[in-house]
Amino acid sequence: MVVEPHLRTLTGEVIPLRTIYCIGRNYTAHAREMNVEPSTEPVVFIKPPTSSIGDGGTIRIPQGEGIVHHEVELVAVIGESLHKSTPEQARRTIQGYAVGIDVTLRDRQMKAKQQGLPWALAKSFATSAPISAVVPIEMISELEELEFGLEVNGTVRQRSWPRFMIWSVEVLVAFLSRWFRLMPGDVVFTGTPDGVGPLTEGDRVRAWLGNLVELRVDVTFEP
Ligand code: ZN
Repeated sequence: MVVEPHLRTLTGEVIPLRTIYCIGRNYTAHAREMNVEPSTEPVVFIKPPTSSIGDGGTIRIPQGEGIVHHEVELVAVIGESLHKSTPEQARRTIQGYAVGIDVTLRDRQMKAKQQGLPWALAKSFATSAPISAVVPIEMISELEELEFGLEVNGTVRQRSWPRFMIWSVEVLVAFLSRWFRLMPGDVVFTGTPDGVGPLTEGDRVRAWLGNLVELRVDVTFEP
């Protein structure tokens, strides 16, 4: 039986997952650690919905790819269709937030960057998009001050707050809607803060969004 990609809210609602939009370079400190100049507009790439896994899942990394990084990110979940909208309209279509991990084959991505090639294989392989349960928007009072982070085997690697974003979530969603027709069930990975680091066989990863939701995943490497 084929299970269609989906998300689940904390209140038990099932959301069919559509497109996973991802934003690069949305935190100055991360751009600095990657030795890239901050961009003049958001960097955008896409993962297929089938790249997602949920809480309790396993990240299955292709063997022999060199360095693989975790990138913890705030994930916005779109609840209504949206095209060429203002940031204010964009804000009203966000149905909730989750925490996600943009798993990245860093060596492969670096090579693609040098050669001017797309990042699809480096960023969008199966299991590259762990996403937690969705926190309904009504449960979030002050997004800017909501801490999110990630630890590996109990050691905190990343921790930040949405207030450090270069582009706010509504500005990002409005930007995406200028280019794409956004649909309910689309999600937006809003970029990673600094502290990205390597994953190895057997790692246990825990990400969190405030004290609202957690995401626990394991790591394995496969031929
Ligand atoms: Zn990312």
